[in-house]
Amino acid sequence: MRSTMQQYPLNISQIVRYASTFHSSSETVTWTGETTRRRTYGEVGARAAQLANGLRSLGISGDDRVGTFMWNNNEHLEAYAAIPSMGAVLHTLNIRLFPEQLVYIANHAEDQAVIIDGSLIPLFAPQLPQMKTVKHVIVNGEGDRSLLAGHAAIHDYDELLAAQSADFDFEAASAGVDETDAAAICYTSGTTGNPKGVAYSHRSIYLHSMYVLTPMAFGINASDKILAVVPMFHAMAWGLPYAALFSGASMHMPDRFLQPEPLAAFIEREKPTVGGAVPTVWNAMLAYLDSQNPPPKVDSLRDVAIGGSACPPALMTGLEERHGIRVLHAWGMTETSPLGSVARPPAGLGPEETLAYRLTQGLLPCAVEGRIVDDSGTVLPNDGKAVGELEVRGPWIAGAYIENPNMPDPDAQKDKFRDGWLRTGDVAMISPDGYITLTDRAKDVIKSGGEWISSVDLENAIMGHPKVAEAAVIGIPDPRWDERPLAAVVPVAGEEVTFEELREYLSDKVAKWQLPENWVIVPEVPKTSVGKFDKKVLRQKHADGELQ
Ligand code: ADP
Repeated sequence: MRSTMQQYPLNISQIVRYASTFHSSSETVTWTGETTRRRTYGEVGARAAQLANGLRSLGISGDDRVGTFMWNNNEHLEAYAAIPSMGAVLHTLNIRLFPEQLVYIANHAEDQAVIIDGSLIPLFAPQLPQMKTVKHVIVNGEGDRSLLAGHAAIHDYDELLAAQSADFDFEAASAGVDETDAAAICYTSGTTGNPKGVAYSHRSIYLHSMYVLTPMAFGINASDKILAVVPMFHAMAWGLPYAALFSGASMHMPDRFLQPEPLAAFIEREKPTVGGAVPTVWNAMLAYLDSQNPPPKVDSLRDVAIGGSACPPALMTGLEERHGIRVLHAWGMTETSPLGSVARPPAGLGPEETLAYRLTQGLLPCAVEGRIVDDSGTVLPNDGKAVGELEVRGPWIAGAYIENPNMPDPDAQKDKFRDGWLRTGDVAMISPDGYITLTDRAKDVIKSGGEWISSVDLENAIMGHPKVAEAAVIGIPDPRWDERPLAAVVPVAGEEVTFEELREYLSDKVAKWQLPENWVIVPEVPKTSVGKFDKKVLRQKHADGELQ
């Protein structure tokens, strides 16, 4: 029997129309380091219409791809609103990719136009001549436009909008768009091989936004002020922009002022209630807050989401106990839209058990199924003990990567999808009550004498030492054990820490055979384009004899 319910398509244009009418006075706020630039959602709706008209006037039609090369700011939110709503596809270009990767993804996605921040012209301009499909570059804000000359038509963002009507029939534009059509594209920051593209659909973004808002995830409603530090060019800023429009919560964006001092000033001034960023950002923030007397007041933040790499326990407890910010540990990846799980603990537990749950990678929501699988493909039990590769499936999980017949990549789908499941490359356990604990990324696990050592566990333990700012652990070749851990440690500024001290500190925290005998002090841990520890660089440095 067929249901009698309406076949109502899920579409981003509906989210934008809702935000700009029923939440027309909610705000989008950009930090300039000293003051703010503010617009209402009513204005965002009008400007999104002008942008859509402007893009049409440049010939953008159908499912053309429009790139953004921007910080988190009001105009980036307008692009998020306008581009999918007009039926085109938003492609957020990661400003921190290596130049050849940036060229690759713009060509692979076949971007027709790119909106860029003026402050990023020097980064973008040298790559523009090799972006074969880009016909228009739209520049937002101040910047030396002459650097872009000769390779595409150059437009000023505000002038383009000013010349256009604030009426655009988004409803009509999306009438021909199926809810399963692409709305936005994001490429993984892939450390090996070519970046891989994921095309999110209107439907997947819509459903993912609803999950982000639930109390099981970030629990956001119209009275919240969201601080999106996580870049809008990385995994859709964890779904925060669309969740904000979906709920009417205000959006607060730091633009390029991501250092702890201006960020803390922004928080003190605007009093956001929910925030999201990778551990590196919050780690730097914690060190800054601890160094100030009195520390800036940041406890307006009810919840800060931390994900992208494991949240060290010392970071969670430090932010909470000393600065009144509760941490929400979350797991996900570009391929999972990106939110896959959030560590909201079950009710009714004591403080220690609650903390243990909060330090897991989180509870799988109803819509995301997960399982762990061993090397031979056998599914292992969810008993909280068996360890294997985590596989997931669900309505906002990628089923394949984008392929471009003009740029074939024989490895595009390799080893990533199996029987309708996404293979995450993460090594994990799942508890009987559905919480995931990641022990490592498959490529980072240290295989010592036939046993596995979790680099993440060692890092978390070392980073618990008060004199350690950051620590990354890699496996290095060992003639007897195959691999042994090497810990690269960054001491807290002004402190000295000895390896004997650290070994002693770890002695009751990790098994004796796991204790690293190889240690180096480094000025900083190399980071990927999205702020994660770049262990590939560390491994290479070690191979080159630089980390002995
Ligand atoms: P990239 O693969 O380029 O780093 P993603 O941002 O998509 O791009 O990274 C996803 C990966 O980040 C996950 O597969 C996982 O290894 C790691 N990750 C994400 N969240 C967490 C977390 N809370 N704890 C540990 N690792 C995490």
